[in-house]
Formats: sequence, C-alpha cells, structure tokens
Amino acid sequence: MSIEAQAGTTSTALVGRCLCGAVTIRVAEHDPELRVCHCAMCRRWTGSLYAMFAAGPEGLEIDGPVTRYRSSAFSERAFCGSCGSHLWLRDDGDEAYELMPGLFEAARAFPLVSEIYTDRAIAALRLPGEHTRHTRSEYEACNPFVSEEDLP
Ligand SMILES: [Zn+2]
Ligand SMILES: [Zn+2]
Repeated sequence: MSIEAQAGTTSTALVGRCLCGAVTIRVAEHDPELRVCHCAMCRRWTGSLYAMFAAGPEGLEIDGPVTRYRSSAFSERAFCGSCGSHLWLRDDGDEAYELMPGLFEAARAFPLVSEIYTDRAIAALRLPGEHTRHTRSEYEACNPFVSEEDLP
C-alpha cells in the first residue's frame, strides 16, 4: 500500500514497543498523521483495520526479534516473532516504513487524514470525520494492489 505518505515532516523522536517488549523501534523523522486501509489483506492481517503513520529510514533503529512476511510482489509486512504484534508494512522501492501507531504512545494524538477501501470496511469500523476517503475502485485505479479475489 502506498497512500500518498510523505515521511519526515516532523523530527520529534518517538519510541515504540510491541506487546511483549522484545521489539523496540526508535523513530527520528515521521509524518504525524494516521492513514487507514480496509482492504482484504489489511483486514486479514490486522483482524480489523490497518492504521499507520509514515517514518523515514534516517535515524530509525529497530531492535528485537522481527519476522518479515512477504505479503505481495511489492511489499513486506513485519511482526514481532515472540508476541506477534504488527510492526510495519513497507513497499519495495519506498524508503518509508508504515508503522503501527499502537506501538507508540505519542501516536495516540495523531489526526486521521486518509481512509482507503472504505467500501470494503467492516461496517462498524467505518470512521467518522472530515478526512480524505477513497473506495476500492478509486484507489485501485491509480495504485498498485493485490486483488482480493486472488487471495488464498
Ligand atoms: Zn513482542
Ligand atoms: Zn490495505
């Protein structure tokens, strides 16, 4: 997924931890905004909806037992090998990490700016507010994607 993320607009250092504490992520530069995806892959991976904020690789420090899963021909998803907490999604050729906001206490205050695959959301998890919204067809018309009909 690449949803027009612009990493590196804020330089406040953040520290995040997985549920068991084995993985620590230190972020130097990040975009203090949340973006949400409701596509079939994100629904399966998260069990509900996918939310992220973008962080550039400069100054990013990752410690602990990270497991990477090749989720598509163009991206990987990472999780803690001990407790299974989701950590990030990263597209090939895109330097930015899409980090899970729940790992970072400071991210609780980030505003929601974008929601995609709105027509594929779990109905109770559609989000209110004035942020940008795109349906599946609107998003897939101009971004790389994995068709949900092709999932196992
Ligand atoms: Zn863990
Ligand atoms: Zn998605």
